[in-house]
Amino acid sequence: MNVYADNAATTKISPAALEAMTKCMTEYFGNPSSLHTPGQTAAEVLQKAREDIAECIGASFQEIYFTSGGTEADNQAIRSAAALGAKKGKKHIISSTIEHHAVLHTLNALEKEGYEITLLDVGTEGIVKPEDLEKAIRDDTALVTIMYANNEIGTIQPIDELAKICHEKKVIFHTDAVQAVCHVPINVHEQNIDMLSLSAHKFHGPRGIGVLYVRKGVRLFNLMEGGAQERNRRPGTENLAAIVGMSVAMKEGIASMEEDEKKVEKLRDKLIAGLSKIPHSRLNGDAKKRLPGNVNFIFEGIEGESLLLLLDNKGIAASSGSACTSGSLDPSHVLLALGLPHEVAHGSLRLSLCEENTEEEIDYILDTIPGIVEYLRDISPVWEDLEKGEKEHVI
Ligand SMILES: *Cc1c(COP(=O)(O)O)cnc(C)c1O
Repeated sequence: MNVYADNAATTKISPAALEAMTKCMTEYFGNPSSLHTPGQTAAEVLQKAREDIAECIGASFQEIYFTSGGTEADNQAIRSAAALGAKKGKKHIISSTIEHHAVLHTLNALEKEGYEITLLDVGTEGIVKPEDLEKAIRDDTALVTIMYANNEIGTIQPIDELAKICHEKKVIFHTDAVQAVCHVPINVHEQNIDMLSLSAHKFHGPRGIGVLYVRKGVRLFNLMEGGAQERNRRPGTENLAAIVGMSVAMKEGIASMEEDEKKVEKLRDKLIAGLSKIPHSRLNGDAKKRLPGNVNFIFEGIEGESLLLLLDNKGIAASSGSACTSGSLDPSHVLLALGLPHEVAHGSLRLSLCEENTEEEIDYILDTIPGIVEYLRDISPVWEDLEKGEKEHVI
């Protein structure tokens, strides 16, 4: 059996989105900036997609800026708010310890450029406390950027409360909502969100396209120089096919969200209950305030990477928090932020489900994982030490 359980990394394209994209590339091939009929037809298609996407998140179409994905949207939001702050002598930015690297690495770069960064802790459950944000905001705070939902452990942050605090203190609030869009209801105006990043390939849209929403009245600075596209804020000929594919996938995702998420939550909870039976294992992140499709487990005494490869041999595509794949042996910064010791954080596994996963697949995963964990523990020197009592179990 082949099971794709890595939907937090990317998703399979929706057939309707793919069809709309093909039509775009063959029929609406004009450049939306051109004044002739093919150009103006493309411009109309672009405008419709912009309006549809705006509606999906409760924004107006003038607040939507197309980018090359979540990474670019995060970069532009943060750099822009930082530049705006600097003009007013405000060079302090608040974020959290569990952000995506698109946010954390941008903040690292800004720190080298003279900004001061405060990263809020998330405790053992992986959730930011609003009272911590309240205490951290200063007169010179230019931006608060806190992700909507975490890509590794799936925890959902108290965005309404965090945004309200920022709104009252007149500090720009940005959220990386790449993992949240189409999984939790979002209305940027009602929720006081000033800036929001999203990415199509996390909800069955194409890769390489995303959106930065910027509330009217918040000034946006460019990352690049060029043409006048996106109201002079993001130059480059629009990737119309990808934009349309994104709008179709997003509308579909929002329309079926309630039904899909109920189904996915059931699968998730069955998976969590089954994996919890493995001794010395634990779910990472708050059990309730988490994405419907996210399961992130730690198994003491094993390497996540080995588990991943053996699962792949059995046809199961999952992900691990430990970052050997990226060439470093450091475990995930997210798991370390939860307070897990280094050697334990290495034994993590992320399974991220979508509405296409089935109960049979969950049964297959639950039949497969315990045996692999046992095998890996049998050959693990760390596990031997734990069993002999030379080391103490953490879990
Ligand atoms: C995937 C992801 C990104 C990056 O989006 P891309 O479109 O792949 O650049 C940013 N933030 C989070 C939380 C993500 O999951």
